[in-house]
Amino acid sequence: MRWDGLSNSGAATAAPALFGTDAVTRTFDTPEFRGITFHEIRARTIVNRVPGASRMPFEWTVNPYRGCTHACVYCFARKTHGYLDLDTGAGFDSQIVVKVNAPDLLRRELASRRWQGEHIAMGTNVDCYQRAEGRYGLMPGILAALRDYANPFSILTKGTLILRDLELLRQAAAVTNVGTSVSVGFLDRELWRTVEPGTPSPERRLEVCRTLTANDIPCGVLMAPVIPFLGDSPGQLRATVRAIAAAGATSVTPLVLHLRPGAREWFMAWLARHHPQLVRRYETMYADSAYAPKWYQRRITRQVHEYATEFGIGPSRPGGPRRLPAPAEPAATEPQSTQLTLL
Ligand code: SF4
Repeated sequence: MRWDGLSNSGAATAAPALFGTDAVTRTFDTPEFRGITFHEIRARTIVNRVPGASRMPFEWTVNPYRGCTHACVYCFARKTHGYLDLDTGAGFDSQIVVKVNAPDLLRRELASRRWQGEHIAMGTNVDCYQRAEGRYGLMPGILAALRDYANPFSILTKGTLILRDLELLRQAAAVTNVGTSVSVGFLDRELWRTVEPGTPSPERRLEVCRTLTANDIPCGVLMAPVIPFLGDSPGQLRATVRAIAAAGATSVTPLVLHLRPGAREWFMAWLARHHPQLVRRYETMYADSAYAPKWYQRRITRQVHEYATEFGIGPSRPGGPRRLPAPAEPAATEPQSTQLTLL
């Protein structure tokens, strides 16, 4: 396994008791992972059923990591770090739980007679192609297992590392249904650098979309998050949809920022530092709910769909039918663990 080599570069210490006696904690001081601590654990199960799945477009997920070095300020998954007694702010960005046995476990679970071969969604909690994946290399084993069992799956990511596994994706797509999406909510570089500091740039993510599509792996774009007052002007929305269309995306799905507990505190502190003049407007907009008002969500959705039509986004193949997806309508009471995290 790829993580065998870690002992040469990481200082290993006892893992928190929370993770079990066989867990190992390593903190790195390399330029790539400076200040990042990995908690290597052996998970007991890897295919997880989504609570309240009837409201979600997927029922089963695989998440080989918890925490995410992409460090998006608005990330909904922050709260789940609290369940591990880890910090939901900077700790979420730097304390990464790695399920080192994920590929073996998945293969075993796919082979079980109880498993019915249902669709598995990845990247729905934290990004499976975050930087840690470059070190641990869990996804090739996961994709190979899904390919060998011809099990349908989808991946949502902000990571360019997915292109490393292009050949595996192609092999899987030859035997089963494979869907991919990247998330790009805006193009503004200053906004990107401050609110998604650990991610590849929006342009690089769209380049991923272009490459996947060019290699017969359909790739849609989750246009998320649309950030009120910072990334929602008609000009910004139009430029983003235009770039998404130019990347050959098969679909575009807008999703307005929502601020659930855990993400809300972290985002509002960021807002106070970078855009203090907007704090009042956000407090008003998100006063009663984690979600922006319906009228605002509808306005954004309508505008994005208008631009999508203008730029002809959607045909799955030249001359094919348009495939503009229905707007995402988050349920106000969704359990936190079922949320897309705006990857
Ligand atoms: S939104 Fe996605 S990419 Fe960003 S920190 Fe959360 S899991 Fe990672």
